[in-house]
Amino acid sequence: MALNIKRPNGTEDITGKNIRKWHTVERTARDAAAEFGFHEIRIPTFENTELFQRSVGETTDVVQKEMYSVIAKETKFTLRPEGTAGTIRAMLQNGMLNEALPQKAFYILSCFRHERPQAGRLREFHQFGVEMAGSKLPSADADVILLAHTIISQLGIKNVELKINSIGCPKCRAEYHKALKAYFEDKKDQLCDTCLSRLEKNPMRILDCKSPICSEIAKDAPVILDFLCEECSDHFQKLQSYLTNLDLSFTVDPKIVRGLDYYTKTVFEFVTTDIGAQGTICGGGRYDGLIKQLGGQDTPALGFAMGLERLILTMENQGVEFDEDLGCSLYIAPMDESAVPTAMKIAKEIRSGGFNVEFDTVGRGLKAQMKYSDKIGAAFTIVLGDNEISSGTAKLKNMKTGEQIDIKLDDTLLNTFSSIALDDMFGGVLE
Ligand code: ATP
Ligand code: MG
Repeated sequence: MALNIKRPNGTEDITGKNIRKWHTVERTARDAAAEFGFHEIRIPTFENTELFQRSVGETTDVVQKEMYSVIAKETKFTLRPEGTAGTIRAMLQNGMLNEALPQKAFYILSCFRHERPQAGRLREFHQFGVEMAGSKLPSADADVILLAHTIISQLGIKNVELKINSIGCPKCRAEYHKALKAYFEDKKDQLCDTCLSRLEKNPMRILDCKSPICSEIAKDAPVILDFLCEECSDHFQKLQSYLTNLDLSFTVDPKIVRGLDYYTKTVFEFVTTDIGAQGTICGGGRYDGLIKQLGGQDTPALGFAMGLERLILTMENQGVEFDEDLGCSLYIAPMDESAVPTAMKIAKEIRSGGFNVEFDTVGRGLKAQMKYSDKIGAAFTIVLGDNEISSGTAKLKNMKTGEQIDIKLDDTLLNTFSSIALDDMFGGVLE
């Protein structure tokens, strides 16, 4: 049998310059989250399967079709398909919800779902997400939506639409479920098997089915907005007025129900048309019942998650700039082996000033070394031979201008190099 060491379908390697794209997105998201008072949390890659069954919900696509589970030593574990369940579990387990509320956490993590891989839909993907526990007011919803909006616009992403909806609370949903069941009852035989089984247990899930036939039938289904109780309706109205007050444009889309069972009241999505069919770059909402359901006190909460692959894809398609790699500041070229110890010492010294320094470690001749330093885009080079070492002076060459300056290889070296290199990088800008 042929050896199969290729990466699994629906996973990606991130190599070379592409990592800059990830750093750009992660840095922007982290900085914005900190400005909004969120603290980073790190949680396990896998949890007890029960956690996701109880939170994401037994009738969701994620739990019914997409989880990667293993039985290890008789315990059933699942690779996290999303970050909310684990984050809330961690808040409960670490007593965070007994401290001053709201508790505000953000995360950057990988998620795993067994889906059909395509552009913007992977089996291992990455999310930046936030969770805010203990806030019941619609001003919290507006602030969380503003954070998502801030990150998306700071990344330079355009053509994004904010869609919001309210899917009510268990009180208004009881009436709505009745109306949905009545609507789907005489179309039962056209529904897919999964939706048929959902009809009794959780008819709202049918609205989220990806099968073309079910989604066609669902088009004319009653919408939850017509069934909201006074409290939910009031919450939704206030949210809209806060968003307007913040100059955030949005549309109310009564079709948004989200794919996870724990949502209540507000749900929202940021959608772009620039990356094809998988255009939802961020999804979130309120989940006021989840914490109690997982064994905590009755505590309202909300959050969102953005798909990092979809953010990057959108930025690429829109030609947005990513952070640049500063690259190699200094390449040291020993003419032969006897100069290597000095090259290593100089590298150690200059790196201590925060510069990226490289020297030859493959035994190339001088000409090949210069070619290599050109290839890696070194800003400066120093050639080290017997003369340089015995005189304690070498030539520092600016690779862009070709200019050469004598520099002393003593304890003034770092200072001298710093001022020349910084002047080269920023001199023109500062003048
Ligand atoms: P979709 O409707 O696209 O399947 P979802 O409702 O399943 O999304 P959520 O569970 O809310 O998505 O996850 C939040 C975000 O994570 C999504 O808006 C999307 O940007 C991203 N995401 C979800 N699933 C994937 C995936 N398989 N591959 C890449 N990104 C994903
Ligand atoms: Mg999905």
